[in-house]
Amino acid sequence: MSAATVPYAEAMDRYEPVIGLEVHVELNTLTKMFCGCATDFGAEPNTQTCPVCLGLPGALPVVNGKAVESAIRIGLALNCRIADWCRFARKNYFYPDMPKNFQTSQYDEPIAFDGWLEVEVPASDAGEAFTYRVEIERAHMEEDTGKSTHVGGATGRIHGADYSIVDYNRAGIPLIEIVTKPLTGAGDRAPEVARAYVSALRDLLKALDVSHVRMEQGNVRCDANVSLMPKGAERFGTRTETKNVNSLRSIERAVRYEITRQAAVLDAGESILQETRHWHEDTGITTAGRPKSDADDYRYFPEPDLVPVAPTAELVEQLRGTMPENPAERRRRLQSEWGYSDLEMRDVVNAGAVEVIEETVAAGATSAAARKWWTGDLARRANAEGVAVTDLGVTPAHIAELDALVRDGRLNDSMARQVMEGVVAGEGSPTQVADAKGLELVQDDGALQAAVDKVIAANADVAEKIRGGKVQAAGALIGQVMKEMRGQADAAKARELILSALGVEG
Ligand code: ADP
Ligand code: MG
Ligand code: ZN
Repeated sequence: MSAATVPYAEAMDRYEPVIGLEVHVELNTLTKMFCGCATDFGAEPNTQTCPVCLGLPGALPVVNGKAVESAIRIGLALNCRIADWCRFARKNYFYPDMPKNFQTSQYDEPIAFDGWLEVEVPASDAGEAFTYRVEIERAHMEEDTGKSTHVGGATGRIHGADYSIVDYNRAGIPLIEIVTKPLTGAGDRAPEVARAYVSALRDLLKALDVSHVRMEQGNVRCDANVSLMPKGAERFGTRTETKNVNSLRSIERAVRYEITRQAAVLDAGESILQETRHWHEDTGITTAGRPKSDADDYRYFPEPDLVPVAPTAELVEQLRGTMPENPAERRRRLQSEWGYSDLEMRDVVNAGAVEVIEETVAAGATSAAARKWWTGDLARRANAEGVAVTDLGVTPAHIAELDALVRDGRLNDSMARQVMEGVVAGEGSPTQVADAKGLELVQDDGALQAAVDKVIAANADVAEKIRGGKVQAAGALIGQVMKEMRGQADAAKARELILSALGVEG
């Protein structure tokens, strides 16, 4: 059952949207936040647990030092201030996926706070590209909960389910929750700002190498708060919080939908209920979850079983020294080094091929060849097989070697493609495949000249046209020469010889 909505443009005529994003990031530490259990994704349910992450009485947690370092590095990358002393807190609530009946989190003493991230919003139907500065409220450490599966019933939710099962492998995996301040002033571009922010954040986390950042595996999960206020108003409206919007595209869609739904509620003179909402990927709408007031009482109190976290100034400075180049700046630098157009660079980024092209160029290929292979034939093949382009068994060194064979004049483009087939099929390196298949341009000019002469003699009519100035007709003859040479000739050279035999300038 979908609610009434107002067309987006109309909603934007009357209201100003305010958004706030809460992003949960699962860290890629080998062990959990407060115990030594493994964090591998996809293991048999309940095989990566111990008394600590199962919350058994008497079990004592110990903080994962690597997780604290990752939290500080994330804070620094988001231009935050880093607390020199902070504590964990118990967030008390009862739910089966949280066996201790409290989540160890941080409350009024987060490890990082007061930061910002500059976000590039790309051009769209709605207008030009622009940059937006997202203010960061805080980034705090906490632990993930177990994963419940509700079996039976139509919705997959707990209501109406026959029974539920819980996998505690995820319980205790380190999480960083990053919360923005209310984002204002983006107007009708607000949904795009939300998407661009999560996209930039994901790139940053990847560059920091603190998370696997696979949104489809839930490594990065986003809750989107949205409210509307009448244009010109000063006080924010009441917000809703749409939970677990887990792809970039859905974030933009969910914010946009909420704007159109809330506008309809406000237009009808009713008020927005402060509540969580569920996002439905298939229908593109949100539905009511549970009411949620700011005063929800989790009875937070400092965790007595853990010592405070007090990073020294030396540690923070040392971690500051590990900051990666800003992903957006890095992209601009690489684009100019590689000489790609904006469009080419965009394709490369969308194909997720920046790193692999960087390695391929470092291995000696030209940037043009690296782009052609990784975003062309190989990308198509990976797409068809549903795997990442880097999982085809082709390495940057292979591409560099193949490119050298083409540049040295041993292979032409169609031969290079045949060689690539062999490399993908696991038949060896490009040189090995070319040797095995006997692929080599004939370097013997005498043989090529003989083929050219033969083809001209057999096609006197075409030759006459070319002599008369119809140079395009040479294509037909080149094709026949290549056939004579069983594909092993350099087409450009064949063209040259044909034209000079007929006494015309190329
Ligand atoms: P909660 O406990 O509800 O998750 P948080 O403080 O963790 O609260 O996150 C609330 C998010 O909502 C923050 O990103 C905040 O900036 C944002 N927010 C607060 N008020 C509004 C509002 N009126 N409209 C939109 N977003 C808001
Ligand atoms: Mg929150
Ligand atoms: Zn454990």
